[in-house]
Parts: sequence; structure tokens; C-alpha cells
Amino acid sequence: MKLERILQGQGFGSRRQCRQLIELGEVRIQGEVVDNPGIDVATAGLVFEVEGETWVYRDKTYLALHKPAGFECSHEPKHHRGVYSLLPHQLVERNVQSVGRLDVDTTGLLLFSDDGAFIHNLSSPKKHVPKTYRAELAEPACDKLVPRLLEGVDLIDEAQPVCALSARLLSPTTLEMSLDLGKYHVVKRMIAAAGNHVAALHRSGFGGLSLGEGVLAGLAEGDWVYLEAADLQQLH
Ligand code: URA
Repeated sequence: MKLERILQGQGFGSRRQCRQLIELGEVRIQGEVVDNPGIDVATAGLVFEVEGETWVYRDKTYLALHKPAGFECSHEPKHHRGVYSLLPHQLVERNVQSVGRLDVDTTGLLLFSDDGAFIHNLSSPKKHVPKTYRAELAEPACDKLVPRLLEGVDLIDEAQPVCALSARLLSPTTLEMSLDLGKYHVVKRMIAAAGNHVAALHRSGFGGLSLGEGVLAGLAEGDWVYLEAADLQQLH
């Protein structure tokens, strides 16, 4: 593929901007400046530098972000900063989108990709990918909270009761629960319907990926990592 097209596809700007970067000598492959924008370059396993920063060619890109509180999951945030401001602009330029959304005050694991089929698959209710949440409760849990969540609670706009896949108390005011739906405010609404309230919410896991483990070990709030093929396998 022509070098200028490679850079454009990897998020380094318009064709003209990419051509300029190359002609200015800002692009290196294997340590050597390549200043011909039209040169054909093999993309498989390509490692390149742009303005001194090293990049690996990725046909599609997959990321995990540890979302802090106070960020909106929107390209056009209204009241807070957007989660996209936490990602390098090249990835935003590639049009990565979040897989579902977390509320502005929710922290935890948020996935992104520019692979539409991947996003669609993981968002589809038919796929039943479990997500795990840790909720700090406004009141100590009563004995009925966990059974109610497991048996299913009625939510406005839902024809059927909505059930947690699992739910357990980690302390009188800390509940861990998993569910395979991605509906608006679903955890907060379920806990309210079961007679308590969420004071703080954190998503700790998505499919087999958990913050603090494997590729996500040590991922601090506000940080992100690329997900590789083996990590993606754990999502299904
Ligand atoms: N459920 C909620 O209520 N909020 C979130 O951010 C995610 C799931």
C-alpha cells in the first residue's frame, strides 16, 4: 500500500497532510527516513515512526480504557470532558467508538474500536456478553436485595423482569453483580427497583477481561491499552 495511504488510514490526517509529513522527513521505517509518499510498503507487521513516535500498523484497532469519573462517553460532550480526550488524536481520527457507554459518574472498563462488526457483536443483546459491576450502595443492603436482583426486577420500558446473572455482597454496602444487558442506567435502575440506591458505580469486567488482571493489570484510571487478538478471544 502507498505510504501516504497507510498514514492516512492510521489517523495521521488528510492525504495532503500525510504527504507533507513524509516529504518533510518525519516518517521513518526501520530507522531510515522514507520521504517518498507514493512508495509501496507492506503493511503486515509494519512498525514505523512519525515525528519520533513509534507505531505498529493496525488494520483495525481495539482498546481498553480505565474510565475515570467525570467524563462523558460522547464525541460532543455537553457538561464534562469527553472520554475521547483521553485517547491519542490519531485513534480518534481513525473514528474509534466506544462499545456501549458508561455514565459520566461511572468508572471502569470501557472498550473502543474502529471495527463496526466487533462493536455491533459485543453490543448485541443476543450475544449475552456479561459485564461485571461493583456498586457502592447508599444504604446497607437488606436480605432481599441479592435475591431480588437474581430473580428479576421490573423496569419501566422493559416488558420482562430484568435479572442479574450473578450478584453478591462484598460488604454490607458493596455489591458485585454481572449482567448481559447494556441498557441506559440499567444497574442504577435495577438497584433502585430492588429497594436501594447506587452511590458509586464501577465496571470491573467485560466478558473475560477484568481490570487488574492480564493485559489490564496495573491499568490506572485515565490510561488505555491496545487489545490484541488473544485478549479479544476473552470477550466471547
Ligand atoms: N448501568 C448504569 O446504571 N450505569 C452505567 O454507567 C453502566 C451500567
